[in-house]
Amino acid sequence: MQLVHSTWQEIEIYLQSSKGIIVPIGSTEQHGPTGLLGTDSICPEVIAEKAGERAEILIAPTFNVGCAQHHMAFPGSIALRPATMIAAIVDWVTSLGKHGFERIYFLNGHGGNANTVRAAFSKVYTASSLNRGGSNTGMPHCCLQNWWELKGVYKLCKDLFPKGHGGHATPSEVSVTYFAYPQAIKSAVLEPKIAPTGSFYDAEDYRRRFADGRIGSDPSPASPEHGETLVEKAVDSLIKSYTKFLKS
Ligand SMILES: [Zn+2]
Repeated sequence: MQLVHSTWQEIEIYLQSSKGIIVPIGSTEQHGPTGLLGTDSICPEVIAEKAGERAEILIAPTFNVGCAQHHMAFPGSIALRPATMIAAIVDWVTSLGKHGFERIYFLNGHGGNANTVRAAFSKVYTASSLNRGGSNTGMPHCCLQNWWELKGVYKLCKDLFPKGHGGHATPSEVSVTYFAYPQAIKSAVLEPKIAPTGSFYDAEDYRRRFADGRIGSDPSPASPEHGETLVEKAVDSLIKSYTKFLKS
């Protein structure tokens, strides 16, 4: 069940039986010569939508631009300042909380978002704790879960791609997007085959160190079939993880 495909009356009825919602959250940033700019948003979105269909969970619109300053030397990337992102997340959570949502589960596709999103949660809780009227007044409980860290998923990633999985533009995430959008599959010569690894600072520094945008990865074995396998596993684990979170 998707919020954007529902009417307000349907949401009112949903809230009578559940106070939980999943928000896919990602980024719009370069993912190497064969990865889509939307990779980090598409992955949590497709996993959340399939879990939503299977377990009748309401899925919010995807928060699809995040903390991506280090990708800004590659055309098409879009970045939010951390303060902008914190303010936006606080407003999303506060809006959903106002309607009665009590558990908001963010399914994340971009590691670089994590600290900032957790800072936003802290801001929501602080506002509640410092509220003169008393704490815990309509404050939703929030959690952030990286999709590749759902139970069993990372092991599957490494089993499917034992060599050159890497950290950015991985064959796993590229496979999930190729499964979701087979019409957007890309091909390119990757040189070197496995990209270098290492740390980085700002955007120019990143591009100097990682010329084509990949970090440590060889996404060439990515395929829609592998993507489907990964999505299946992630959907199963997400339903279990979300169900547990509802009781937290
Ligand atoms: Zn990514």
